[in-house]
Amino acid sequence: MQSIEAQTGVPTKSLLFNSLKVYLNNKNRLQPIIGLGSIIECVKAGTQEMFYLCEVCVCRLGKADMRNHIMGSLHRYNYIKAWHPHLVCEWQEKSDLSRLAWPLMEMATVLEGKEGPGEVQV
Ligand SMILES: [Zn+2]
Repeated sequence: MQSIEAQTGVPTKSLLFNSLKVYLNNKNRLQPIIGLGSIIECVKAGTQEMFYLCEVCVCRLGKADMRNHIMGSLHRYNYIKAWHPHLVCEWQEKSDLSRLAWPLMEMATVLEGKEGPGEVQV
């Protein structure tokens, strides 16, 4: 029996997840990572070019940008709003995200401890 990977030549594990794994396993890292389950890894048809879709933020980014995106306040806010709306319901819809960076980071740390970073969809 051949694995799916051998049949299609496409790695079944997300490249982004692999590149983040090093960071995830770094005990000294400062940034919690959540919402990987909302990221979809895509390959542009006919090319090897990868791009990523973030379901909760409705955006499309390259690999390096998506890495930054996952650690950004906007992604945390959108993810928490989508999956744990009770946590952010006291906040104004248009509140200044830079002022919410710290509470968002704390929330993300708690969520990551509870449910883990998630897995990138391929
Ligand atoms: Zn996002």
